[in-house]
Amino acid sequence: MLDMNSSVRISASFDAGNIIIQDASDSRDIQLAIRNDNNSDFFQWFHYRVQGAAGNVLRMRLTNAGKAAYVDGWPDYQAVASYDRQFWFRVPTCYENGELIIEHEPEQNSVYYAYFAPYSYERHLDLIGWAQQSELVELFDLGQTLDGHDMTLLRVGTPGEGKKNVWMTARQHPGETMAEWYVEGFLNVLLDSDDAQAKELLREVVFWVVPNMNPDGSVRGHLRTNAAGANLNREWATPSMERSPEVLLVREKMKEVGVDLLLDIHGDEALPVNFIAGQEGVPTVSAEVLAAETQFQRDYMAVNPDFQMERGYEPDQFGDEAMTVGANWVGDYFKCPSMTIEMPFKDYDLRPDAVQGWSPERSVKLGETVLFPIARWLNS
Ligand SMILES: [Zn+2]
Repeated sequence: MLDMNSSVRISASFDAGNIIIQDASDSRDIQLAIRNDNNSDFFQWFHYRVQGAAGNVLRMRLTNAGKAAYVDGWPDYQAVASYDRQFWFRVPTCYENGELIIEHEPEQNSVYYAYFAPYSYERHLDLIGWAQQSELVELFDLGQTLDGHDMTLLRVGTPGEGKKNVWMTARQHPGETMAEWYVEGFLNVLLDSDDAQAKELLREVVFWVVPNMNPDGSVRGHLRTNAAGANLNREWATPSMERSPEVLLVREKMKEVGVDLLLDIHGDEALPVNFIAGQEGVPTVSAEVLAAETQFQRDYMAVNPDFQMERGYEPDQFGDEAMTVGANWVGDYFKCPSMTIEMPFKDYDLRPDAVQGWSPERSVKLGETVLFPIARWLNS
């Protein structure tokens, strides 16, 4: 047992680490700040380690939380913690006077805290390495990011006459780690040779999957931007190699092979639900495409009650920037259903999990079950 006012050690020099230590001399009043994304005003992702505090109550104040990108994300939000970096659980958190206050008595001397369960770059590489073992998978190296990370595209299935091209992109916003957990679930089922639905789909569909659209931001511990400070989900109208090579490279490949359906996977800071943003805000969208997107959502809800349609964005969510958003640009260019899937940082409030909140495990399940609405869309 440490003394009541003993100091602890805090660090964030690891994959996706993000914290500024302002004062850690008193474990009952630790003052921290979230570092902003490089060359950007956005910040909200945090991920740090505390050592030397077993059995002591830590009171940690994130003093600049009130200036974060989405302050609506803080009320009713609980931070996650982990001892083994595998299992992440929620810890008591409140938002007061512009500060996010985390209070926790760790049972062990080394504990990690984060905005959501991280999805590490190593796990990303492992996912790609695992996937390419499948005979169904062809791996494409699209090029490099500004920090020199590889942009990897997985093709699942064999191209053929009349086959549809279904795309999935994830983590344009790197702090939305639930998106890559979702992709992991999706690939688990799609590459399962015993899964009848996957086998049926692959007769008629070629899948193109970008598990991580923003590896630079992921490793740097960003919420929303790449290394240059570009919000990739506002770059789709005019991407460039200087500012947003991630989008340019993927967009070129889309133009080469075509897109019949896009699912772009995200997390939402404020809303405690899973939902889809379709092309309601796109002036040129057809009634037929909108109807297909609505049916997709109904089918998703039927197969997984963690998905819902009651709550979501208003059609004018993106305002003047609507056509710079990935799913909107793709839907307009290819005249196809193209949707943004959002999961919560908080929890699904109608089916809460007091221990974990919305979690990697449930993100995986949501990704596993998306094959059903895709199959229904294909047969319509
Ligand atoms: Zn996002």
